[in-house]
Amino acid sequence: MYTRTAPDPIHTVAEEIRDHRRYLTSGRSFLSKNRIEDQVIGKFQGIAGATITADLQIVFSERKKKGTWEQENVVKFAAIVCCAGHGCSTPEHKVPATAEFLLDADADDTAPAALPVVAAAQKWAQEHAENCRALPYDGS
Ligand SMILES: [Zn+2]
Repeated sequence: MYTRTAPDPIHTVAEEIRDHRRYLTSGRSFLSKNRIEDQVIGKFQGIAGATITADLQIVFSERKKKGTWEQENVVKFAAIVCCAGHGCSTPEHKVPATAEFLLDADADDTAPAALPVVAAAQKWAQEHAENCRALPYDGS
């Protein structure tokens, strides 16, 4: 039987960085220089059945280059965990963003910086799943 396994976040992060770089240099950048790419890094089931989703946020932005008027493109990583439990007391948990990394730096060197954020979000989601007794919303 073929089992689907989730993609390795390091790999997908490096790809997203390369993609964003390509968009910016393509000349037809319909995508903003400031955008957030969300990636699901975990789905959990609370003990009463509510779905808890952990998302990595790859935050692309532009900042002023120190001591110049030039702009430079940067990327940082944050995460958010959402619980869909009806009446859950902590339906949202944010993992603070990392420092900013230059978009032009080697994507394979930058990508591992996302890992602590990924780990923190997954840990929180796992613990929340073990404790959250909110039921899934059933429309009533
Ligand atoms: Zn919950």
